[in-house]
Amino acid sequence: MKIETLEDWGVGIKKPVIIAGPCSAETEEQLLETSQRIKAQGVNIIRAGIWKPRTRPNNFEGIGEKALRWIQNVKKESGVKFAVEVATPKHVYEAIKHNVDILWVGARSTTNPFTVQEIAEALRGADIPVLVKNPINPDLALWIGAIERISNVGISKIGAIHRGFSSFKQTRFRNLPVWQIPLELKRQLNTIPLICDPSHISGSRDFIFDVAQNAMDLDYDGLIIETHRDPENAWSDAAQQITPEILGAMLKNLKFRTPTSKDRDFITVLTELREQIDHVDKELFEIIAQRMDIVEKMGLYKKKNNVTVFQKNRWQEISESRHKWAEELGLNPEFMWDIFKIIHAASIRRQEHIMNTAIDDQDESAK
Ligand code: PEP
Ligand code: MN
Repeated sequence: MKIETLEDWGVGIKKPVIIAGPCSAETEEQLLETSQRIKAQGVNIIRAGIWKPRTRPNNFEGIGEKALRWIQNVKKESGVKFAVEVATPKHVYEAIKHNVDILWVGARSTTNPFTVQEIAEALRGADIPVLVKNPINPDLALWIGAIERISNVGISKIGAIHRGFSSFKQTRFRNLPVWQIPLELKRQLNTIPLICDPSHISGSRDFIFDVAQNAMDLDYDGLIIETHRDPENAWSDAAQQITPEILGAMLKNLKFRTPTSKDRDFITVLTELREQIDHVDKELFEIIAQRMDIVEKMGLYKKKNNVTVFQKNRWQEISESRHKWAEELGLNPEFMWDIFKIIHAASIRRQEHIMNTAIDDQDESAK
């Protein structure tokens, strides 16, 4: 799959790319004023939803095609670029016909391979950047699959937008970030620009900044932030939009760090610390191997004496002591218990294997 890095997109876009604009285009004045005030903050790619996917019917579902003419007028008047969500082949044709600069595929569309394939077919032969939001469910393969479908029709300027994953559990996030999924996407498709959408992750303007800073610290390539001239009165997603001026202040306060440094001292110190970490990790592995040897001996002994692998009282004892040790060592007991449960499950599997095989058959590979 050929995916160009942001620098190769050749449309004056460079890292960190910032896209800002209203959740939805509402009126031509709203679009113009919001765009001009965003541009005054140094941001010149505007997002605007025209066809809005809403969870329940009878809500505002976007202005539709009429807003594409507003976009053309605002582009002429203020010289900004526009990004728009497309969810059907018709959206793709109309957006391209009206000179939209960037298209994005929304989270609900990414979930459905039929929809993505139809959007992809409509894009065949076009030369336009396409951003693909993660699917609403935490499924990396589905996200990559959507990117592949867009790539297969010849689009090479493809970016990924991380907007979080919906969850049945109530959390402070509207959509859980699950950072390891986008980071794994970036590891597998290493040239793909990765953009964070802190607005849809947060669902509230209160922690957009923290989520955005987190993304920058994880070396993301950019941000897409919902920005409105009058957030409280926005027709959709009012709780999570910010004013252009707050956006400007946020961008000034964000720390943009680089993934490496050419400073010699930094390199020397980091190399030393990495050697220490390698050393400690190796010891950790050796200790786990030692533990497995003991587990094995115990398994054989339990088998000989016809005793079960698992004993309830012992498990209770283990739980209490391990939680206490974690606390004494200044470690998070819940986190340590999660790790310990994985080690313990592997130990049980090992002993069950011993119980269920003849001594002579116990091969090393089953460890
Ligand atoms: C949006 O960007 O306004 C939107 C509908 O987002 P998502 O597809 O991430 O829900
Ligand atoms: Mn929105």
